[in-house]
Amino acid sequence: MSLLSLSGVRCDFGERQVLRGIDLDVDRHEVVALVGASGSGKSTLLRTVNLLEHIDDGRILLGGEDISDPRADADRVRSRIGAVFQHYNLFPHLSVLENVTLAARLVHRMPRLAAEERARELLDSIGLAEHTGAFPDRLSGGQQQRVAIVRAIMTEPELLLLDEVTSALDPELVGEVLELVRRLAGEGTTILMATHEMAFAREVADRVVFLDEGRVLEQGPPAEFFGAPREARTREFLARFL
Ligand code: ADP
Ligand code: MG
Repeated sequence: MSLLSLSGVRCDFGERQVLRGIDLDVDRHEVVALVGASGSGKSTLLRTVNLLEHIDDGRILLGGEDISDPRADADRVRSRIGAVFQHYNLFPHLSVLENVTLAARLVHRMPRLAAEERARELLDSIGLAEHTGAFPDRLSGGQQQRVAIVRAIMTEPELLLLDEVTSALDPELVGEVLELVRRLAGEGTTILMATHEMAFAREVADRVVFLDEGRVLEQGPPAEFFGAPREARTREFLARFL
């Protein structure tokens, strides 16, 4: 059984059909890259999985549980999922350590000392040990995104959602964030990530899914997807990155 399974997921905003029947499975330990033009529905799709967006039809299963059931406990579902977005991930008025430990303590009831110990370990492993007391505005964008990712994995979520976590960064800061994602992928973290980093998707993803106007138009292993795309729309999309 897949860890995550979307079937027939639709999402409309008024007249605009943004997700038009998405079928998508993500297996445990799989890294799936979601690619597609701006406006194709990538963020909306990720938001539906995290129950931050309504769906008009279809079903979303997480570990076999129907999380799209209106009776599902949204907070509990979100506590099983780590999510990092493009912007504004950290609380500006909290230190790095407080940012990383807050949800773990409040939502997951992790004792303060245990949370701080794990946070320090993780921050140390990405070279941010000496910044635990700093406020986010003292860190570079790349450091901030890495802190946000560390926060998202504090409680070892079943699934990590990453929505273009590098697209707001200066080019020289992208590499350090991708390096952390690469490491998590290598450790077996299940990841569903929207990205415009095609070289990275090719290297790290087990599968690439191409979203076109709210539909999964094509998907496959990176070598096939990038090497021999079947659909004209896919080729057209990929040509922009050459
Ligand atoms: P992507 O992440 O692939 O760029 P999005 O999921 O952000 O695409 O957006 C897909 C489409 O849905 C866009 O046309 C966007 O304007 C529209 N959309 C997203 N969120 C809303 C909303 N809350 N209200 C109305 N339209 C929205
Ligand atoms: Mg988006």
